[in-house]
Amino acid sequence: MTDCIFCKIAAGEIPAKLVYQDEHITAFHDINPMAPVHVLIIPNHHIESLAALSAVDAEAVGRLLAIADQIAQTSGVAASGYRVTFNVGRDAGMAVHHLHAHLLGGRKLGWPPG
Ligand code: AMP
Ligand code: ZN
Repeated sequence: MTDCIFCKIAAGEIPAKLVYQDEHITAFHDINPMAPVHVLIIPNHHIESLAALSAVDAEAVGRLLAIADQIAQTSGVAASGYRVTFNVGRDAGMAVHHLHAHLLGGRKLGWPPG
């Protein structure tokens, strides 16, 4: 996708504070962090949202979740706890239409989320 900011981050075309990258997945610090640890984890190829998953994409999401836990561990929040969230659509406030998981941790996280 030519006009997608997260595609461009995955391709290294615009800067981000990368936490992890392999041929399938990129993770980087959220530019507007909502918690001491706030990392976004994305598939490198463009998937619109959870609502647009194909069978092949489902494998990418599985990988993405495993990497989320890996990053929680290396960020030091795995023991205290963390949350992984996907926003989908308008009511969830989805702003960037390239599937991404938010990894949040490092503080007490309220439930239910606002
Ligand atoms: P969502 O509301 O789930 O679509 O979340 C999009 C997230 O992307 C927000 O938390 C933004 O702060 C974050 N974001 C937007 N642009 C960038 C960027 N260039 N680098 C890092 N994070 C970004
Ligand atoms: Zn994209």
